[in-house]
Amino acid sequence: MKNNSNVYIPAVATVNEVREMAPDIKLFTFKTGRPMPSRPGQFFMISVFGYGEVPISITSTEDEPLGLCIKKVGYVTGAIHQLRPGDKVGLRGPYGREFPFDIARGRDVIVMAGGLGMIPLRPVIHEFYSNAGDYGKVSILYGCRKDEMLYNEEIDDWEKAGIDVIYGLRGKQIDGPDGCVRAPHHLSQVETDFSEAAAYICGPQNMIDLSMRELEDRGMPPERIVTSLEAHMKCGVGKCGHCYMGPQYVCTDGPVFTMDELQKIKHV
Ligand SMILES: Cc1cc2nc3c(=O)[nH]c(=O)nc-3n(C[C@H](O)[C@H](O)[C@H](O)COP(=O)(O)OP(=O)(O)OC[C@H]3O[C@@H](n4cnc5c(N)ncnc54)[C@H](O)[C@@H]3O)c2cc1C
Repeated sequence: MKNNSNVYIPAVATVNEVREMAPDIKLFTFKTGRPMPSRPGQFFMISVFGYGEVPISITSTEDEPLGLCIKKVGYVTGAIHQLRPGDKVGLRGPYGREFPFDIARGRDVIVMAGGLGMIPLRPVIHEFYSNAGDYGKVSILYGCRKDEMLYNEEIDDWEKAGIDVIYGLRGKQIDGPDGCVRAPHHLSQVETDFSEAAAYICGPQNMIDLSMRELEDRGMPPERIVTSLEAHMKCGVGKCGHCYMGPQYVCTDGPVFTMDELQKIKHV
């Protein structure tokens, strides 16, 4: 793959593997020809020739081939779902700000995932799982539709390693119809000193808002509450203006923001 200096020109990558993760959700891995190092929280712009380009979070860890987990929701993601091993795509990136880990070192950590929010949080959880000695107790609150639960086998491994996983599943007795949104309702099950812990959140916007408020109410300082925002964007590099949020762009200033940063720009 050629290392382009023009940020608008995608490099060509080859689909290596396609795995069904859930109805309408597939995990694609790519052969990129050259290493494309990325950090948890960053995203790629992936294009299907003749269809268009969309931003997708990186779900692979730094040790794995590039992996993007994609839900079919419309035109471009529909075209991506038609891809087979050997097909070519365009990739630009990685873009965006990564999740900070210095805020969590030596502290208990709460990871709150709502639905597809688990996609960018997977490499975050791997950081805690692989470097367990650097962090305190890790708890995951995962709210989702039961048939859209991602990374089941890995979750088993995480639980065996001592990570506490608390589910808010739609379609299971534990919760009502809004599994994703209800993840924050299970915070009372997390045993920690919230004022000393750190949290990583990703999911639908209402779930993020509710989670941040609940964590702050329990004493967690906003600078240790981190989230990743989704916004419509076309370029990914701070030019098109689609993801403009107050004085900031979600693509280049985010997509990862701390709660205190969002409060300063009056997003929450
Ligand atoms: C930083 C970032 C990371 C993302 N990571 C992932 C990921 O890891 N996996 C994944 O499956 N998706 C992810 N998305 C969402 C993905 O980019 C959209 O689903 C995709 O752009 C839809 O394109 P489409 O052409 O298939 O849909 P369209 O045909 O363009 O639209 C279908 C419907 O979806 C709505 N829609 C499209 N994009 C968005 C959006 N960003 N927010 C809210 N509604 C939208 C449209 O309004 C329309 O109603 C991410 C988005 C961003 C901004």
